[in-house]
Amino acid sequence: MTAMEDLFALQDEDVLRGQLEYRRARLPEADAVLAAETVRVQMSAEVGDLQIQRLDHARRQNRFEGEVAAIEVRLGELDQRLYGSAITSPKEATALQNEIGSLRRRQDDLEGQILEIMEILEPTDARLEELAAAAIVADADIAAAKVALVETEAAIDGELAESATRREAAVQSLPADVLVRYQRSLPSFGASTVVRFSGTDCSGCPYSMPSMEADRVKGLDAGTLAECSECGRLVVR
Ligand SMILES: [Zn+2]
Repeated sequence: MTAMEDLFALQDEDVLRGQLEYRRARLPEADAVLAAETVRVQMSAEVGDLQIQRLDHARRQNRFEGEVAAIEVRLGELDQRLYGSAITSPKEATALQNEIGSLRRRQDDLEGQILEIMEILEPTDARLEELAAAAIVADADIAAAKVALVETEAAIDGELAESATRREAAVQSLPADVLVRYQRSLPSFGASTVVRFSGTDCSGCPYSMPSMEADRVKGLDAGTLAECSECGRLVVR
């Protein structure tokens, strides 16, 4: 390989590295991981909301059930007194019956409210079960997306490593001054830092070299590194 072929090889590897790094930073596999994680976060948020609602209803249900249990105990006591032998007057019997009636109405009311809560909780619990199943699937999706991402990244890293090895070989073969000229021009010209002499012109820019300059380059030995007088690119005769 001549030095100029090594210079083009170096440029090829720099271009390739740029493309690979660009690709690696914008992988659709990374978007897929993000999308899967977003779905999962939304699910967790919905589960959180439903559990708060559920807890609130469950607390009310507990309180009502506690009150119903207390009413049942009290009704048992009142029944015993009403039908036992301790009643001394019709007035007392009426008072007991009134209390029993009022407690039974309260009990009916509470039982109605408990039923309502259970009706609300039924779809909530169904949705929570649905979400628990969906979360397992979503977790598997995230894991699969991450595996795909890691695999693609590893493949690109492999290509980057191979490119770096080839680049290093080219650098080792290049004269130091050529390398310095290339590195100095690279920030301005990127992928077309080194171009070929077309025979009459620099092939990296749309300008025409003055004929005297073109003749000068033409007169150089093949494989000599010149510079375009118009754009400043490195031109290989
Ligand atoms: Zn030029």
